[in-house]
Amino acid sequence: MADKFCFGVDVGGTTVKIGLFQTDGTIVDKWEIKTNTANHGSAVLPDIAHSLADKLKERNIEKSMVEGIGIGVPAPVNADGIVQNTANLGWGYKEVKREMEELTGLIVEVGNDANVAALGEMWLGAGKGQQDMIMVTLGTGVGGGVIVGGRPIVGSGGAGGEIGHLCVNYEETDHCGCGKTGCLEQYASATGIARLARIRLTKNDDPSILRGCEMGEITAKTVFDALKEGDKIAGEIVEEFGSYLGHAMANIAAVTDPTVIVIGGGVSKAGEIILGYIEKYYQEKAFFANRHTKFILAELGNDAGICGSAKLVIDEK
Ligand SMILES: [Zn+2]
Repeated sequence: MADKFCFGVDVGGTTVKIGLFQTDGTIVDKWEIKTNTANHGSAVLPDIAHSLADKLKERNIEKSMVEGIGIGVPAPVNADGIVQNTANLGWGYKEVKREMEELTGLIVEVGNDANVAALGEMWLGAGKGQQDMIMVTLGTGVGGGVIVGGRPIVGSGGAGGEIGHLCVNYEETDHCGCGKTGCLEQYASATGIARLARIRLTKNDDPSILRGCEMGEITAKTVFDALKEGDKIAGEIVEEFGSYLGHAMANIAAVTDPTVIVIGGGVSKAGEIILGYIEKYYQEKAFFANRHTKFILAELGNDAGICGSAKLVIDEK
């Protein structure tokens, strides 16, 4: 019998990425639509529903052949598919699962975008075959998904796995975007690495390639490019990044004992070179029974969200 189908939807602040999958994990089609955030994002779900219906018509697929729709959203989502608030979509309280089921007549499962990205990497990417995994997404912020026994840790209100806001420096006086001080995100995100660079460059006069850029032009990429040129200051910045992230991973491993830690997001484009810096500090602080954990780079890039969303539905069947 032919495989059934499902949709994986990754809702972002500017675009919605959508994938049509066979339930064996084959991506049949993928496309994007614009996220219309006007009027508190009231058109977001109807726009997605239209796009899915159009795709089924275009491909001549009966609705009865579709197992459901998985949706990843950039906010904490509870087990009932309810969102309390979103920073980028304009939604306040929203019953995403119920509304989407009413719009489409299909079963809908909803998850947090970072958690579903982790699930995607476990299903079809770097964590294939694993059941216990941490995924860290190093982008503008630090996102995370912690998977135990094949399932992301969601928690009571859906805020489980928010590892970007682990406190990793009790002495910090600068504030994180969340309002706290000393969050992992302040040291390990792209903006965090640029911040570490600015601090270090103002602290002393040691020569560095990075002094050729204006302070505002320093990014995580310029730091890693300088590192690859053998720049000493860049090396110190990346050591500092690695120590905060590696130590934080060792703490999470003490709770979840993962087989792999997958590093993704824009910062991971620096390549394999970053893994060594994280792993070194991980090993320094890891409990002896957690030292087996392997560090790997994410493989799915922007497709992780649609893959993991599709997997949400398959897992519920
Ligand atoms: Zn924070």
